[in-house]
Amino acid sequence: MRWIDLHCDVLSKLWRDPDLSFYEEREETGLDVTYPRASRAGVGMQVFAIFVSPSVPRAQTWEAALAQVDLFYEKVVIGERQVFPVLDRSDVKRLGTDKRLGALLLLEGADAIQGELSHLRLLHRLGVRMVGLTWNYANEVADGIEEERGGGLTRFGRTFVQEMARLGIILDVSHLSVRGFWEVMEMTEVPVLASHSNCRAICPHRRNLEDDQIRALIQRDGLIGLTFVPKFLHPDPDQARVDDLFRHLDHLLELGAEHHIAFGSDFDGIDQKVPGLENTGDLPELEKLLARRYPEHLRIGCQRENAHRFLLKHL
Ligand SMILES: [Zn+2]
Repeated sequence: MRWIDLHCDVLSKLWRDPDLSFYEEREETGLDVTYPRASRAGVGMQVFAIFVSPSVPRAQTWEAALAQVDLFYEKVVIGERQVFPVLDRSDVKRLGTDKRLGALLLLEGADAIQGELSHLRLLHRLGVRMVGLTWNYANEVADGIEEERGGGLTRFGRTFVQEMARLGIILDVSHLSVRGFWEVMEMTEVPVLASHSNCRAICPHRRNLEDDQIRALIQRDGLIGLTFVPKFLHPDPDQARVDDLFRHLDHLLELGAEHHIAFGSDFDGIDQKVPGLENTGDLPELEKLLARRYPEHLRIGCQRENAHRFLLKHL
């Protein structure tokens, strides 16, 4: 295993376009993350987000989330020959020794839960092991980062997070409002990561983390998945380059995050790409660039070890 990727949106693409295939490689029209590419790049584990866009009417969101879980088992984890679902600690231990790709389910935004704790419990039974409380906007649980009023957790949201902690679900703070972030950090023992966020000090986008948030994640033994989204890398997305990713990485290192850095590509969730960082097939090239720039232990930590250790501790 060379890589763990903490975020991709393959499932929502598969849901929108039934003709796509995770096992086929197509240049222009296909998926960014495919099994052949992941296999060649040595991806040991890929997190698959269940994402229901705000354009889906509320009444259909739960059904849409379930449809994506179904696609995960029907089109990604096929017969467990090439891909296996990562459900518990013993699966995490197999990463690296098992030749197959580990696949972990994440719910991106609790909107589809529709305020029902039973839905959270059912998703856990179906294999979901990470949940982001919000996407960009408000839902029954909390406000997202693009919600102007900047509210935190609702009363239901607090109960929701307690239930997550009880079930052993990891909480993803990417997309969550700043106030929601701090309320999560104060209230629970639930394991916390940011699956796909960069540093606001380097690129002042709302979706990026402020330094004190990064420090809090370090203190909490959390994880920060640096992401390849151009607008989170550079204030002018057209100018975003791989070097910008290193600027964010260097900033995390300055803050003492050496053992808490990972990558969350957001492949298949983005239209614009950084040149040379356009799909999973570009990871070997990124590995070379990382090797040129950072000591081996640090590179391996960011590519896989930090995330592996985090998952061993928390799943
Ligand atoms: Zn996202």
